[in-house]
Amino acid sequence: MSIVVDGISKYFGNFQALRDISLEFPEGKLTALLGPSGSGKTTLLRIIAGLESAERGRILFDGSDVSGLHVRDRDIGFVFQHYALFRHLTVGQNIAFGLESLPRSERPSKAEIRARVAELLDMIQLPQLADRFPSQLSGGQKQRVALARALATKPKILLLDEPFGALDAKVRKDLRRWLRALHDEFHFTSIFVTHDQEEALELSDQVVVMSQGRIEQVDEPTDLYARPESRFVFDFLGHVNVLSGSVQAGVLKQGPASVRLPRIQTTGDAQLYLRPHEVRLVAKPVSGADLPFRIEAVSLIGSGVRVELRPEGWESNDLWEVGMSHGEFARHRPARGDRWYVIPDVGHLFTEDSRKPQTVYWEPPEFLETAGSGI
Ligand code: ATP
Repeated sequence: MSIVVDGISKYFGNFQALRDISLEFPEGKLTALLGPSGSGKTTLLRIIAGLESAERGRILFDGSDVSGLHVRDRDIGFVFQHYALFRHLTVGQNIAFGLESLPRSERPSKAEIRARVAELLDMIQLPQLADRFPSQLSGGQKQRVALARALATKPKILLLDEPFGALDAKVRKDLRRWLRALHDEFHFTSIFVTHDQEEALELSDQVVVMSQGRIEQVDEPTDLYARPESRFVFDFLGHVNVLSGSVQAGVLKQGPASVRLPRIQTTGDAQLYLRPHEVRLVAKPVSGADLPFRIEAVSLIGSGVRVELRPEGWESNDLWEVGMSHGEFARHRPARGDRWYVIPDVGHLFTEDSRKPQTVYWEPPEFLETAGSGI
């Protein structure tokens, strides 16, 4: 079932929580609502669910206006951050609850309910736990049961509000993969709220980035990551290094720091955004780039090495980060206190005259003279 949000605005007293939101959630897809605290994600989810009403706009399910429909008539499954299982009911009874509560004319027989509960327990890989009470389950198990309970009545729409927020990192990761697999098998239309960019990018087919009650960008995860359309989205998707300066004759300068911008015509104030894996370290400046740094810290984190750098003789509002492989690190051993220079591979240039950035590529010939000396 597709969901369309058409011109939704929502006020709490004088405060406008949602500002003219229009969006489409495609049938059978998993969409993430991503944004910082207070951006309006939960409010939008609750309006779609029918738990909250909007001052302006409509909600359409498969083209029909459901704005006036009560939550119980919208055929939706919910999962919230705090499991909200019924404590006095067993796992099996919790899962059966939605089916047992249906009006007599729609309620399946006792045997059908038993069979459905067994099927859902298999699906959440907890068949042996039907007779336990919620207090006897781990957080991850409780959240699986909450999901099974939400799916018992076979809703066409599943809404999840920070479903993994209260769980530790490892369990979160397992549950994410499991939810993705479940979704691929059953194809319900899902919307989940998160403020975790990694979770949104890993799990969803479409990501809606929200800020202050507005939509900043809607895209598939890979496109969103490759082409953030605003400074806000860039900052929200992980660490980014920023060189703020002025462009003259194709060179961006700030004090003694400079970098040539191939094929860029702009002049005036600009900010170059460079991600940690889009830059490299070299031992000396090259003709196209002179970005000196002092190494502040080196962290050997999991699959890569992260080097933190303080600009030397020029200003940046944050430390810079460069990511490298363990192999590269072992060869060059950049150490705390050393002076190194950054050269970029790909950058994203924001100027005064456009909201969206221009992508800048430095082809290998730009820095040919560094061949062999770079990390
Ligand atoms: P979080 O990630 O912290 O849950 P969110 O993006 O889901 O944030 P919402 O819960 O939708 O944000 O809240 C959006 C804004 O509306 C916030 O500024 C919040 O304080 C305000 N708000 C939400 N519910 C109410 C309410 N019932 N009364 C007054 N203000 C509210």
